[in-house]
Amino acid sequence: MAAIDQLPPLRDVIATHELSARKSLGQNFLLDLNLTAKIARQAGDLTGCDVLEIGPGPGGLTRGLLSEGARKVLAIEKDMRCMPALAEIEEAYPGRLQVINGDALEVNPLTHLTPPIRVAANLPYNVGTELLVRWLTPKKWPPFWQSLTLMFQKEVAERIVATPGSKAYGRLAILAQWRADARIVLHLPPGAFTPPPKVSSAVVHLDALETPRFEADAGTLSRVVATAFNQRRKMLRSSLKSISPDIEDRLVAAGIKPTDRAEVISLEAFCALAREVAKT
Ligand code: SAM
Repeated sequence: MAAIDQLPPLRDVIATHELSARKSLGQNFLLDLNLTAKIARQAGDLTGCDVLEIGPGPGGLTRGLLSEGARKVLAIEKDMRCMPALAEIEEAYPGRLQVINGDALEVNPLTHLTPPIRVAANLPYNVGTELLVRWLTPKKWPPFWQSLTLMFQKEVAERIVATPGSKAYGRLAILAQWRADARIVLHLPPGAFTPPPKVSSAVVHLDALETPRFEADAGTLSRVVATAFNQRRKMLRSSLKSISPDIEDRLVAAGIKPTDRAEVISLEAFCALAREVAKT
């Protein structure tokens, strides 16, 4: 297959800069540049967009994003060892890559980005989920991002796109589908990564909706849903007791049977309940 750029193959980059993968940083690298370009294409039309990339590592996905035409990539990487490899990419794409050495959970990237902004990342599972929830629950909507294209462990990806009644349905599905269109766009076997992880992975693409599907306060919805699914096998009148002393009345006012369990409640009904709970 044709090379996507003039830079050395990622195996050589890793050898030159001695980037042995560290488990503590969740380092499972993608070394096939045709695959990283394919993931970058799932992020949509990148021309005219700034892209926020979290966890570039040796830069496989970064190179994919740049070769697919991103106006600028802002990459935040915790591992200092990756900086020289990323500097080589900066040189090959003058003025189009900015790298910040830091923890994505602490750095605020927004001052360095100009809308429209897309987000793309292949991150360790725990950091990815935490960031996804943050990106989905700002008080104001629409958010800073137009789309998110994120690699997850397959089971987590399935939770994001799950529908009521399924085992995977829960907080992630509700938060994602309330304010975005979410779909799985790519499945990857463990062998796609170096070193291969124990689990399969999937790329999820989310497009931000202009307005949330149903009215609700983000904080209240998030709290109600987290509490409801914390004890998902219990009836809502019991699992949601801590939310309000008169939760049974509020459930009825929202059109929900108090004896129902969280896993059968639709997104629309959870939003109605969040509105009832927010009433004084
Ligand atoms: N994007 C590269 C690829 O696809 O080959 C690397 C993916 S690897 C699964 C995850 C990357 O995220 C690693 O480079 C790791 O050092 C970085 N990372 C882990 N935790 C991070 C954090 N809190 N903030 C920024 N980067 C982080």
